[in-house]
Amino acid sequence: MKCDVLIVGAGFSGCVAAQRLAEKGLNVLIVEKRNHIGGQCSDKLDENGVMVQTYGPHIFHTKFEDVSEYLNRFTKFNDYKHKVIAKHKDKLYPVPINLTTFNKFYNLNLDGEGMKEFFEDKREKIDIIKNSRDVILSRIGTELYDAFIKYYTKKQWDCYPEDLDKEVLERIPVRFDEDDYYFSNELQGIPINGFSEMFKKIIASPNIQIKLNTDYKDVINKIDYSKLICTAPIDEFFDFKFGKLKYRALKFILETKDKELFQENSVVNYPGPDVPYTRITEFKHFLNQKTDKTTIMKEIPTWEGVPAYPIPQKETKELFKKYQELAENTKDTYFLGRLGRYKYINMDVACKEALELADEILETI
Ligand code: FAD
Ligand code: UDP
Repeated sequence: MKCDVLIVGAGFSGCVAAQRLAEKGLNVLIVEKRNHIGGQCSDKLDENGVMVQTYGPHIFHTKFEDVSEYLNRFTKFNDYKHKVIAKHKDKLYPVPINLTTFNKFYNLNLDGEGMKEFFEDKREKIDIIKNSRDVILSRIGTELYDAFIKYYTKKQWDCYPEDLDKEVLERIPVRFDEDDYYFSNELQGIPINGFSEMFKKIIASPNIQIKLNTDYKDVINKIDYSKLICTAPIDEFFDFKFGKLKYRALKFILETKDKELFQENSVVNYPGPDVPYTRITEFKHFLNQKTDKTTIMKEIPTWEGVPAYPIPQKETKELFKKYQELAENTKDTYFLGRLGRYKYINMDVACKEALELADEILETI
């Protein structure tokens, strides 16, 4: 087999890079180990007629207008705006923590200024924010932290926030108003026909060939290519030369409920240590689907299975650096995406970095 660019992985990163290169006339071959495209973002209709996102809930959101414009070439997005509710001791609270969460939790009726003053007393005065625990305690002290953050994080990452880089909990704001949207001021939505349909369109070019059910390690020696983009784990690419990078995975439990609706919101978080799952997603909310039955998914974080999350810790980043240096010295080979760059990135960043890398490669040809 012959191609200009060989791309390992048909996830968001691989598909977008392929599209941009193909649009400029290059022949691209994508090799994907799974039996479908879309990677972690893939979805499909289940037997209840519900669009289920196979690897957990995905909501597109971005502040990059160019990324949004680019994707709008391949799909329309609906106007879904994501909200999350957390269940703590049988009561429901909006998350991220906002004025409503605060007043309900403390049984108060303060305004934003009152909330700020309240936390001036409670919050810990930390000069240098070193980790994810510092991020939260310096804002709101321990009580809300214990209720909504500490054990959720322990379940998600198998460690407490003090052992995670600050970037993890910096993802989550604390709001002093009643804004209960999960993401701040961003373009957002769900592709109206699902993510997989969007990926099908993205890679529809005759310049793109795809081989599913194929591990690149089994075929790479038989392919004649000029450049390689790898979106598979970088440590695996180099045969774990410096040791294994850790990735957190998820176990998904799908259940059909014989009722129209299971919960009032698409996602309900379970931040307590009493249940092993972090959240329950009821998918029909995303596309506002009307069906007699409903499908829900519980997510249980684990160390087994498909790598999903790079671990944002000092040690893992140091190990990654060694692979990165090796990568920089590997001719005509580029790494991309959550696994290739070992970076906790959202879809919009995956898309942006894929377009940038494709443009960089095009300049060299
Ligand atoms: P992947 O989707 O992992 O693609 C890599 C591909 O490489 C996979 O298809 C894999 O099968 C393939 N591959 C691996 N090894 C090999 C091999 N040896 N040979 C051939 N192929 C191989 N982002 C958001 O913006 N909004 C959200 O709401 C959101 N929710 C998320 C929820 C969860 C549970 C998770 C885990 C992530 C979420 N994300 C979200 C992030 C989003 O999933 C990623 O940004 C995106 O999937 C990155 O795409 P990628 O192509 O880099 O990686
Ligand atoms: N988090 C938490 N409680 C919540 C939601 C999130 O403690 O109710 C923490 C958890 O450590 C999580 C991090 O905040 O990994 C980032 O949350 P986000 O929703 O951005 O994570 P994602 O699911 O997108 O990876």
